[in-house]
Amino acid sequence: MTTQETIGRIIGFDGAGLPVVSAYVRVEPDNSVHTRLSSLLDQIRPLGKSHSLEHDARLSIRGDVERISRAAGEERWKPGTMALFSCHGRDFFEEVSLPRAVRDRVTVDATPAVRPMLAVLEEYRRMCVAVVDEATAQVWELYLRDIQQVKRLRDPTLRKSNFAHGMVEHRIHNKVEELAKRHYRRVAAMLHDLFRERGFDLLAVGGHPYEVSAFTEFLPRELGERLAGSFAVDPRTATPADLRRHAESVMERYEHDEERRQVAEIVEAVAERRPAVLGVERCLWAGTVAAIQKLAVQEGVTAPGVVCDRSGWLALSGDTCPLCGEPTRPTTDVIDELVETVIHEGGAVEHVGVDTELRRHVVGAMLRFPLPPLPVV
Ligand SMILES: [Zn+2]
Repeated sequence: MTTQETIGRIIGFDGAGLPVVSAYVRVEPDNSVHTRLSSLLDQIRPLGKSHSLEHDARLSIRGDVERISRAAGEERWKPGTMALFSCHGRDFFEEVSLPRAVRDRVTVDATPAVRPMLAVLEEYRRMCVAVVDEATAQVWELYLRDIQQVKRLRDPTLRKSNFAHGMVEHRIHNKVEELAKRHYRRVAAMLHDLFRERGFDLLAVGGHPYEVSAFTEFLPRELGERLAGSFAVDPRTATPADLRRHAESVMERYEHDEERRQVAEIVEAVAERRPAVLGVERCLWAGTVAAIQKLAVQEGVTAPGVVCDRSGWLALSGDTCPLCGEPTRPTTDVIDELVETVIHEGGAVEHVGVDTELRRHVVGAMLRFPLPPLPVV
């Protein structure tokens, strides 16, 4: 499972003089990943022999190539993209399974190439899943496609002896309530700490509906604001697969709402003539001039177009780049080129799967500054 610590280790790593190899390789249900990975590694193999590098650096890169190929042989990777980071000479190796396709690439640099990974991760939330009844609590983490238990807690309840000793009924009732309240308060405090420790973004609460609603009353305001939803489940019999299914559907609803919000934000900004654009042509121009702060892309839509590799010009057509006069390179998907450009320029990308006004425009963006006029072709 990809934890906050793993991501933190990768971001913070520095080869201290030794090169760091970063590889991104798409994993598809067929077995093409091995072929594509080995051709990626072929691009850097010569560096392992190159005398332009110090002996230690050459050795380290050879170790990286070997380590990355071994990883591909050892495990079955999930569909999406595998991001691998290796600095053999510093005993550093990390891999992250990304749930979305990213373009294949390999780089050798002083630090890991994290930008494509962060751009994908930014779209996914880390959800705390609390399954609660009046005496117990299980806390799970749902992130990327995994669910993992992080904590369990059991508080005292009334034992049979209390009844046997003839406690009068209303006193028993009060005692039960008091213990449950104490338990809920403890669970809420524990969640509060876990949110800070583990960097959770959202909360989902599961259990018997009456206990769920009793418990959520005890959530401090900050946690209440992160509550994405709740679900009905029997805490004693629910399996991890049940919890994952319920939690994922809470997550999905949340994400769809968020997609709608983002599209609405762009549509509104365009209507109010604030820096924002809708439509492929204008977004490509915005990408060319690095104006895009947040790009919304209709999931699964592609469009052929042209790219100038010299100036970064992106357009739907044209043999010659109007910015520098170079011949353009045709591409089967200029929207993918746009996504890469936005990520490279430090912007955010949101893929929109739900039905919104974006379906008509395909792409839309919030901009950093108003667009200059399009050059005359
Ligand atoms: Zn150009």
